[in-house]
Amino acid sequence: MAPREHYFDALVRELAQHLDVAFAFVAEVADDNPMRARTIARFGDGTRLPNAEYLLDGTPCHDVVREGYTLVRDGASTCFPHDTALGTMGIASYAGITLTDEGRLIGWLAVMDRKPIANEELVRATLEFFARRTEAELHRKHLQSALRRESLQRRSAEERAARAAREALHDELTQLPKRMLFLERLDRALLRGDISFAVLFLDLDRFKVINDSLGHVAGDALLREIGRRLRTVLRANDFAARLGGDEFTVFLEGVDEAAAVTIATRIERAIERPVLLEGNEVVVTASVGIAFNAPHYRSAEEILRDADTAMYRAKESGKARFEIFDSGMHDRAVDRLQIEMDLRRSIDRGQLHLVYQPVVRINDGVTTNVEALLRWAHPLRGCVMPSTFIPIAEETGLIVPIGDWVLDRVCSQMEEWQARGTGELTVNVNLSPVQLRQYDIIERIDTILRRHAVAPRRIRLEVTESAIVASPEATAYILRQISGLGVQLCIDDFGIGYSSLAQLLRMPFTSLKIDRSLVVDIAQCPEQREMVRAITSLAHTLNMQVVAEGVETAEQLEVLKTTGIEYAQGFFLSVPRAPQDIV
Ligand code: C2E
Ligand code: CA
Ligand code: CA
Repeated sequence: MAPREHYFDALVRELAQHLDVAFAFVAEVADDNPMRARTIARFGDGTRLPNAEYLLDGTPCHDVVREGYTLVRDGASTCFPHDTALGTMGIASYAGITLTDEGRLIGWLAVMDRKPIANEELVRATLEFFARRTEAELHRKHLQSALRRESLQRRSAEERAARAAREALHDELTQLPKRMLFLERLDRALLRGDISFAVLFLDLDRFKVINDSLGHVAGDALLREIGRRLRTVLRANDFAARLGGDEFTVFLEGVDEAAAVTIATRIERAIERPVLLEGNEVVVTASVGIAFNAPHYRSAEEILRDADTAMYRAKESGKARFEIFDSGMHDRAVDRLQIEMDLRRSIDRGQLHLVYQPVVRINDGVTTNVEALLRWAHPLRGCVMPSTFIPIAEETGLIVPIGDWVLDRVCSQMEEWQARGTGELTVNVNLSPVQLRQYDIIERIDTILRRHAVAPRRIRLEVTESAIVASPEATAYILRQISGLGVQLCIDDFGIGYSSLAQLLRMPFTSLKIDRSLVVDIAQCPEQREMVRAITSLAHTLNMQVVAEGVETAEQLEVLKTTGIEYAQGFFLSVPRAPQDIV
């Protein structure tokens, strides 16, 4: 019982004793529900008192309880909800008075006795007197609970505001600071001006693959674990932040190059330890860019941008490594940005064109198909090769419209060749992994094919082995649908990825291209020869055509003939040519 209620216990006892009656009680109407009342204090034989709870069946108390003073002498009245019980309890008399607070019914105070009430005047006056005391106390009690409620509400509002402020600055998943807080602290360090520090920019190397294959819950768990590991390897004055996605940053105070490299290495090691995700042991690596504070930095963003640039460099140089920013990187980054902007306009400005490299049947030298290769005639840079601009196009998503343009152009070209009556060549077209990931890739290819009078069978889309390795299940599904459009599929750059032939068996490929790296030393290196022989015979059992890429010498071609391979492509046979020079 709450301490406040002792007051009412004392009050009802005093009242009963004063009037010399067997029972006295106070009932209180619940302040949040006028249909509910409860005995909050009682005196007398507890078991024989009216029910402690009054449930009024949907009728508010003030409609049931007669207002003011009530005297019942014979136990037959129905004034109070519990009156019917009075007779059976052997109670002869009842006197009650309602309690109000600013006109609102808040309860009632009553006495009962087994003998008739003798001095009615005394009863009434006493009840009225006790009623005022009870009302005053109930009023206080209400006021206090209202105050308590209000302060509780205020406190939880304050807590909510504090939590919201923290959440705005901290990442929910890892509990690390977010970008804004990181930049703010970095700016503070810059303002101090005197200290040496470094900023690390980390990007996980295979996060997307893990997220896609194991699901977002596993992806989140991985990020949480990386955040935890980062915290554990850092020194007291260093701090880490999560910029978003799989990007993290670290501030290292008072470090020279050697110290920063030591810590960066320690971070790489910590990240590379296997993580158990949904029963799978997953190993991730990170590419890390490092930028050191220098006098020319004006803002935190500038340092972060340079660390980001260095991180890109680490990605380009093979990932799972770190790179330290130098100003040459900045120039290269600016250059890259320029290429990106120019590339956006390249289609509309008609700067893209295709050349075609023959694929030759080795035994009779006949060109059976050609591979379409993209060229960009840049107004200032001249002919830009795909190795320069395809990665940028892939990163920016520009490869999607560019890829559409290539396929459309190839189809038109085939129609032109057809009209000239020059044979029925099959044309190989490169398909980027980024294009494969488009949700509407099937529709896109289908739309283009429908625009042209070209048999789909004569188009052969090349997909690199590495694109398949990234997510074999999803890729297999999409490839089956593409194959359903009637086009052929070819595995490109085979032998440098890690796909198993068993995996490829389930995919609808009709041909396979052995990567240039397995051809280049084939004359000198018996292991390469055996490798090519093994791949070729396996592919043949799967009914695939096999093509050797990058054949540059007569010697290579001679050795290739001994491996059982039937087709070859390379500068020795033909460089890529303009369309009018084909057939
Ligand atoms: P890839 O699919 O492996 O294409 C073959 C590349 O090897 C071509 O380079 C070709 O010119 C080159 N090559 C051919 N014979 C020889 C040789 O004997 N020796 C050497 N060293 N190289 C040879 P290219 O045209 O620079 O294309 C490079 C890559 O760019 C292609 O590699 C392909 O992955 C990509 N690419 C080219 N055109 C397109 C396109 O239209 N769409 C997409 N998504 N990617 C394309
Ligand atoms: Ca290719
Ligand atoms: Ca290739």
